[in-house]
Amino acid sequence: MSDNCNLCGSQEFELLKSELRDEKTKFKIFRCRNCDHIQLLPRPTKEEDKEYYNRNLQDKNREKEIDYEKLKINNEFDTKRHVNLIQELCNNTNCSILDIGAGYGFFINELNQAGYKDVTGIETSYERRSLALQYGTAQVINFDVNKPDRDIGEFNVVTLFHVLEHVSDPIMFLKKIRNLIKSTGILICEVPNIREMLLDNCKEYNDFYWIRAHLNYFGKETLLQCFKKAEYRNVEIVFEQRYGLINLCNWLTTGNPQIEMPVFDICDDYKPVEALYRNYLRSNGRSDTIIAIARL
Ligand SMILES: [Zn+2]
Repeated sequence: MSDNCNLCGSQEFELLKSELRDEKTKFKIFRCRNCDHIQLLPRPTKEEDKEYYNRNLQDKNREKEIDYEKLKINNEFDTKRHVNLIQELCNNTNCSILDIGAGYGFFINELNQAGYKDVTGIETSYERRSLALQYGTAQVINFDVNKPDRDIGEFNVVTLFHVLEHVSDPIMFLKKIRNLIKSTGILICEVPNIREMLLDNCKEYNDFYWIRAHLNYFGKETLLQCFKKAEYRNVEIVFEQRYGLINLCNWLTTGNPQIEMPVFDICDDYKPVEALYRNYLRSNGRSDTIIAIARL
């Protein structure tokens, strides 16, 4: 293994998973023996990643055709959750928001609906950007955070929802993002939590979990380490649980994910149990998602 750890540069690795869900030969998952960071190696080249995302392979590996309306419905829970988070952290609708990795634009359009007018999305995939512009109201630009070709200004809030796990040099990426945040601004970064409980309790889920698109798998400690190395001073960690009890039951009984809608919902009678379940995972740090709220 000639690659260096994405976080600490060490070359000492332990093999963690020898097969990915969607790629069985070239890439494997390793844990760094020095800093514990879990990552996909060998690191894909820039050209490999560019081609991968331009062809929108991540979604096409799952489904042949992109169905915008269906994706929108499936993303609704996260979209609303993210808008609520913005409203909690910055309730002034005049604040400027930059969403990096805007995808199909569901979140930025919902921000417009919620009254936030100064909203910009960055999306490097041509296909996703085109669909976002075709269906949405918010502006979506093509911009390389690692190699900025112009000044796009500074923002009160920068969001990174499920982006950092896709980036080959997360420390450099977070450093570059500093230039896009106002001195009083915040960065909200959400990633999957490698400590989630289901990974330890369901073999089928563990086999399903590891994918070509994810180059980094963070836990609380490695995420904090990443922000520290990118010289953020003040970082708060919040645990969040996206998937609910129905998804858990699906995995434990059938060994399959719950793909069809309603993706995250359970009938009203069981809502209190659902809340207990989510709070249990969050309070133990074993939920499926971690959010870092960082200040410069
Ligand atoms: Zn390391």
